Amino acid sequence: MNTYKSIYKQIKKYDSIVIGRHLRVDPDAMASELALKELILNTFKNKKVYAIGLSASRFKYMGDLDKIDEDIAKKSLFIILDTPDVKRVDSDYIDEFKYKIKIDHHPFVEKFCDIECINENASSTCEMILDFAYKMKMNISRKCAELLFTGIVSDTNRFTTINTSFKTFDLIHKLIKDTNIDFTSLYDKLYARPIKEVRLQGYISQNLELTDNGLAYIKVDDDVINQFGVDSASPGNMINNFNYINEILVWVFVTKDVKNDIYRITMRSRGPVINEVASKYNGGGHVRASGARVKTMEEVDNLIKDLDMVCKDFRGDIDENK
Ligand code: AMP
Repeated sequence: MNTYKSIYKQIKKYDSIVIGRHLRVDPDAMASELALKELILNTFKNKKVYAIGLSASRFKYMGDLDKIDEDIAKKSLFIILDTPDVKRVDSDYIDEFKYKIKIDHHPFVEKFCDIECINENASSTCEMILDFAYKMKMNISRKCAELLFTGIVSDTNRFTTINTSFKTFDLIHKLIKDTNIDFTSLYDKLYARPIKEVRLQGYISQNLELTDNGLAYIKVDDDVINQFGVDSASPGNMINNFNYINEILVWVFVTKDVKNDIYRITMRSRGPVINEVASKYNGGGHVRASGARVKTMEEVDNLIKDLDMVCKDFRGDIDENK
């Protein structure tokens, strides 16, 4: 509560506020920054608030993002959301801001802000923003409510992830009751996808390699991406659809980011801790949902071997405890 009060005090103090989030935007990051902007504008008059970062066409429906320059950064409060470390911040001006606040639900990686509000137990950054809004008695508009609902549903994978709690449901219940949003209509925009992506999902299902230890992995090369007419980010975007498969404990999708000449790796787990392996390979994330970027196929293969060992150890521990 004291941290919330300190954050609120800074928001009140600054006339110019920039809100940012991590690279490779996802629904929780996008929705939380736009919702916080809306909250601040609805609660305080005469403030300039900018929500920044590279946009993605599939999240355009949530709202527009803003551009800033160095002069704006120099006089602004910066609130960075959903981002545990400085290398993941989607802004060129991180060193220029007058004062910095972090609000995040990732495991701690490094301190780079004046105030750090971290709740590893929160299901999502949107849940933290919602909690903050209620505790500070801020004005939650319908638009803001829709954004926060969308971010929470997405980051909890429809309330299935381990960080989904009584508090998550409590806040959601209050939000729907107070704002009367038509929440089922929001799923259309969040989950609708083209048939070519469903066909790619079929390809991935058919071609996943599965080890004896319960590790599933696939390297989707550029020919496949072109064959299905999809984006190289598409496999990563459908990774959550591969949960609850009996034989699979950890699953990993690898794609090539041709523009930046790196391999992009997305991974999920039904039990084993995977973010420690991700950190070893220039990545990070949550205990059961992580990502990494590496330069060579050798590193990709080493990461896959490490994750296979993590699965083996996990199975061993379970067998020992039987
Ligand atoms: P994704 O696989 O992009 O859905 O991300 C899953 C989780 O891993 C999120 O919490 C991300 O913030 C985190 N993550 C993804 N890629 C990276 C990376 N290259 N470095 C650090 N964390 C990452």
